Amino acid sequence: MHSMQIVEWGKPLEPRDRPTPKPQGTEVLLRVDACGVCHSDLHLQEGYFDLGGGNKLELEKLGLKLPHTLGHEIVGEVAAVGPEAAGAKIGDKRVVHPWIGCGSCESCERGDELLCTSMRSLGARRDGGYADHVMVPHPRYLIDYDGLSPELACIYTCSGVTAFSALKKLARLPERDVVVIIGAGGVGLNAVMLSRAVLKCKVVVADIDANKRAAALKAGALAAFDNSDAEAVQKLKAMTAAGAGAGGAIDFVGAPQSAKFGLDALRKGGTLVIVGLYGGMAPIPLLMTLVQSGKVPPIPVKTRPLGEINQVLDELRAGQVLGRIVVRP
Ligand SMILES: [Zn+2]
Ligand SMILES: [Zn+2]
Repeated sequence: MHSMQIVEWGKPLEPRDRPTPKPQGTEVLLRVDACGVCHSDLHLQEGYFDLGGGNKLELEKLGLKLPHTLGHEIVGEVAAVGPEAAGAKIGDKRVVHPWIGCGSCESCERGDELLCTSMRSLGARRDGGYADHVMVPHPRYLIDYDGLSPELACIYTCSGVTAFSALKKLARLPERDVVVIIGAGGVGLNAVMLSRAVLKCKVVVADIDANKRAAALKAGALAAFDNSDAEAVQKLKAMTAAGAGAGGAIDFVGAPQSAKFGLDALRKGGTLVIVGLYGGMAPIPLLMTLVQSGKVPPIPVKTRPLGEINQVLDELRAGQVLGRIVVRP
């Protein structure tokens, strides 16, 4: 199998070839069709998460060993199944639920896999989808995406589900209220698209990048503000009932300035939702059903060859990506 791997922290990914593994037990081998390129891949590539104040969380200390294949928004076709992989058939086209627990701790046994403290998520602990094949530990992590394009379907397993979880926290806000989505990158733009199916209230966007504001308006946001503009909060509040402020703000940027903008924009009793990396996980099958119903307009997705992954990561790092890029082996 061919993969693009992190061989050294902070360096470009390198092509690597090795024998294609055979699935054992409940494992399922997928031939990768496409894999979404996510912001969190940039942090994984660097080898640490910046906790602020000069503190770093090093991934090696969390058990991530090199070489490692990134890519957790995976879609593909079942190529081989282990002897105990009941329910998976060769040729099945599936997206992958990449957030995989250890399977044996208390949380996993309770079924709260996402609370597992020794996750072995694909593309974050185990090898992911920047490759032509990926091994999935069990058929239960495979989700049907019938009716959607593979390139679009795969991004709902991370950016889509993150956006969906954040929106669900504000679903109770009434029609007259306003929610401000801060940051219109891949996840924020997906939130704008999903908002019509999840929220009752109006949606506005704040982003410092004019192209991203334009994309958000095109996606249906009622207004878009430049949050680096000192008067943005006032302008935003002027759109809300009695100028009191927004009922909710979702910060997809996760920087001190963006959170402050959110707080300043809120009315009394408003809710600020801060979305971290892999922020709250709603069930992917539930989201997939919503998307399959046709109620969610697609975000712009561009396809690039896997061999260009290093350029794609650089473009994402430079903030030049509108919507989402998926790579294909
Ligand atoms: Zn992601
Ligand atoms: Zn566990």
